[in-house]
Amino acid sequence: MILRSEIGYSLLEYSLKEAPREAVALLWGHGETITAVRILTNISKEEGVFELDEEEVEGAVREYQNLTLLGFFHSHPTDIPAPSVQDIDGAEGTRIPFHVILSLKPRPCFRCWRIFGGQVYPERVDWE
Ligand SMILES: [Zn+2]
Repeated sequence: MILRSEIGYSLLEYSLKEAPREAVALLWGHGETITAVRILTNISKEEGVFELDEEEVEGAVREYQNLTLLGFFHSHPTDIPAPSVQDIDGAEGTRIPFHVILSLKPRPCFRCWRIFGGQVYPERVDWE
């Protein structure tokens, strides 16, 4: 996956602002390059989890229909940048290729994963 630096920085800024709550976003682009971000609302009241507003997600999918939905982004404000059991369950059936997690502690760290069949596979993150 290729992440443009301005997109990476905007995700970092947004995640820091949302912390200690998790930040969520959809990532769009062409090929393996992320070119656009659509920030979503985390409707969960709890820390350390996220819940999506289905109507908002459907609206975003319609809005960006000229681009390919490449990734789902969320932050882990205090946890490592690896998918939790809930993240793996939630990824099931989405057919989104990349699951990007930004851990904020001890220092910001982006990691990308492919998740299918309950299995998690690391994916390189290249900055551009
Ligand atoms: Zn997570």
